[in-house]
Amino acid sequence: MNLNTFDPEIANAIINELNRQRSGLEMIPSENFVSEAVLEALGSIMTNKYSEGFPGRRYYGGNEFTDQVETLAIERAKTIFRCDHANVQPLSGSPMNQAVYLAFLKPGDTILGMDLSHGGHLTHGAPVSHMGKLFNFVRYKTHPENLGKIDFDELTRIAKETKPKIVLCGYTSYPRDYDYADFKKVADEVGAITMADVAHIGGLIAGGAMRNPFDYGFDIVTTTTHKTLRGPRGGIILSKGKPGNPFKEPEMTKENIPTILDRSVFPGLQGGPHMNNIAAIAVALKEAMQPEFKVYAHQVIANAKVLANELIKQGMKLVTDGTDNHMMVANTIASFGIDGTSAEKTLEHAGITVNKQVIPDDPLPPYKPSGIRIGTPALTTRGMKEDEMRTIAGWIVEAIKNHDKPEVLENIHAQVKNMTAKFPLYPDL
Ligand SMILES: *Cc1c(COP(=O)(O)O)cnc(C)c1O
Repeated sequence: MNLNTFDPEIANAIINELNRQRSGLEMIPSENFVSEAVLEALGSIMTNKYSEGFPGRRYYGGNEFTDQVETLAIERAKTIFRCDHANVQPLSGSPMNQAVYLAFLKPGDTILGMDLSHGGHLTHGAPVSHMGKLFNFVRYKTHPENLGKIDFDELTRIAKETKPKIVLCGYTSYPRDYDYADFKKVADEVGAITMADVAHIGGLIAGGAMRNPFDYGFDIVTTTTHKTLRGPRGGIILSKGKPGNPFKEPEMTKENIPTILDRSVFPGLQGGPHMNNIAAIAVALKEAMQPEFKVYAHQVIANAKVLANELIKQGMKLVTDGTDNHMMVANTIASFGIDGTSAEKTLEHAGITVNKQVIPDDPLPPYKPSGIRIGTPALTTRGMKEDEMRTIAGWIVEAIKNHDKPEVLENIHAQVKNMTAKFPLYPDL
């Protein structure tokens, strides 16, 4: 029996969500649209199979074809990110980072990561997260007077003082690229493992549009698969070095990093991998190896730069004054006297989806912060380019300035629908 007949409530919600995605401007930087090939693999019978273990070393029989799928995903990830080892089993970005921390740290050990209001992620030791309670996170920040670049003097001082076991770089709301060589230098001085969480920019690195931490000697790179990488939800842990026998406890040495990581994911943190998801990740990675993906990755950044410049021209103050990647953080309070939560609601009314966002050292609370975060990956996947970005920047500012005038918001919404109709999404669904 198909979904429509058996469970019309769920079927209808899915259709309504499809229409919402089709008719609105999706500008949350962590979102994207997967291909129909990815959807097909994701909805496949691979979901029925238990495959605890790794290709060729499973705890269950019948894994001939799941082995093929996982091996292809691993090999493609290694090729794309130019490294020796990939674990494609983490169920999403959070367990992926947890698996790395738990692999190398004991409770109370220190990690140096980015301050949350300056761009760090929840999994980088937010006090409300289990990881934040379990480990001692110390933080670096951006420099307010240096276009929001990392304050490396302070970072070096903190590292020398606290001797972290992991130096973590990576962000969820930081519009610049990192100087990985500087991080590596500090980490070497204090004998720490270098970890880059490129969850947001994995696709931009895959497409050759941003720096690859492995080119700067990093030990470990983690990425989600569903943000700029444009796959299903998931996480990949990448490292240098060849893995040994995952069934034997290895010594804690740098050579054993791949084996330690594999064992940390399974059996350390997870049981059976989601094989339908891994099949879909493999498809997304094959897409990321095509020449079109390079074009997409560069266009994501070109679109973000145009959008940022237009917003600035129209009076929007952006944290870091512009962008090097796919996102920007707008200080809506300083620009137009409206907080991020109200700006998010206003834009939703106008058919534009963004999210509220804390700004560095935000004086306002996280549920009503000073700004919003805006990104271009999903619209770029739909085929939008610089011209559309200019128009959209105008709508964003017009909507925020007229947040108390529903007729203006309705009018923008109508224009948004006209524009999105010209960029069909999932025409065959
Ligand atoms: C999104 C993100 C994650 C976590 O991803 P989930 O799949 O939402 O758990 C981890 N790190 C960074 C930097 C992120 O932006």
